[in-house]
Amino acid sequence: MSIVIIGTGLAGYTTAREFRKHDTDTSLTLVTADSGRAYSKPMLSTGYRKQQTPHDLVQSSPEEMARQLDATVLTDTRVEAILPDEGEVHLRDGKSIAFDKLVLALGADPVAPPIRGDAVDRIFQINDLDQYERFRKVGDHAGRVLVIGGGLIGCEFANDLREADRQVDLVFPEPLPLPLLLPDQSAEALRAALEDLGVVIHSERTVDRVDADGEQLTAKLSDGSTLQADTVLAAVGLRPRTELAEAAGLSVGKAIRVDRSLATSHPNVYALGDCAEVEGWVLPYVAPLTNAARALAKTLAGETTDVRYPVMPVNVKTSCCQVVAWPPAGGAEGVWQFDGEAPDIKAEFRGDGGTLLGFALTGKRIRERMALQKELPDLF
Ligand code: FAD
Repeated sequence: MSIVIIGTGLAGYTTAREFRKHDTDTSLTLVTADSGRAYSKPMLSTGYRKQQTPHDLVQSSPEEMARQLDATVLTDTRVEAILPDEGEVHLRDGKSIAFDKLVLALGADPVAPPIRGDAVDRIFQINDLDQYERFRKVGDHAGRVLVIGGGLIGCEFANDLREADRQVDLVFPEPLPLPLLLPDQSAEALRAALEDLGVVIHSERTVDRVDADGEQLTAKLSDGSTLQADTVLAAVGLRPRTELAEAAGLSVGKAIRVDRSLATSHPNVYALGDCAEVEGWVLPYVAPLTNAARALAKTLAGETTDVRYPVMPVNVKTSCCQVVAWPPAGGAEGVWQFDGEAPDIKAEFRGDGGTLLGFALTGKRIRERMALQKELPDLF
């Protein structure tokens, strides 16, 4: 019996660690296109505040991981194709690896913003440690940083860079930050806190061009205004990596479709983490993948186990105004009720008969998370 895991992010390594709690004999191979260092991705957007270099964020080298997991870890090795019926994974260098069970822990690609100009290749996107390391080589010496995107990652990086005394401009097309997570009143509180920290917000605008004049960059916004920056960081969304699965004929929707046992449409292939759609849910966060990894480890060890998805609120690490939110499902009927003053607001989305359907907590009100979380039913 041999198991191959593609990906050494939190999903891949957590699955391997959990699996070894149940099975110490089966041959285990992990393959990754990146450097394979073990790290916690959420720490990337608090590196400046916590005065951590990219090196500090490395928890274990791939060699240490291979020893700990009694596994083979192939780094800088891209998988080009998977053949589920043949039980083979084909690598870029022409070699192949055989498997009995395959786990796809492929993560997601940052979406490239539609920006023109002669310095587009100098725009950074950060979704792994290697990219973060490259950004820090420039960001550590930059006085002025332009951050594009008002979602979780854009807001966290804007907050972190500002705390490190960078001048930060934050540009996004919506009227308020965190549009997918927060109702307006809560988002206003976050906006005000970011502005109090000194982040200059340019909402309802996009960046159309980025051009270079020597080391200096100039961004042209959709309203015709311009911004100067030493470096630009874009965080405008993530797209689950589905190409390998699609080419192999596996079922793909918003991401790689799996059932509650994390099995794809092929019984020997499983998926979890940012690349997976579990019973229709794509939740690109740590708590869902940790639950999934625990269940999958048991299944791989021979005891088929369904993952349980309780409500897993999203934490946004904006130290100027912390946020914990579980937005109501799209189309849910109800009204937002607010309690408190910015920055400390409890917002509850309640439907018929007062049923809680979602919530958003900011500032000191994040302490009320557990009580609200308990009031919501499990997803499955
Ligand atoms: P990844 O970590 O992206 O790993 C994917 C792996 O697949 C990599 O090893 C890659 O090399 C490999 N791979 C892909 N394609 C191939 C191929 N063809 N061949 C070989 N290998 C391949 N979540 C939270 O819950 N809380 C937070 O506070 C939080 N903060 C975040 C802050 C930032 C800045 C970011 C970017 C994300 C944050 N998240 C947070 C999200 C969370 O970190 C991710 O959901 C999680 O790390 C995803 O892990 P993963 O293993 O699925 O994907």
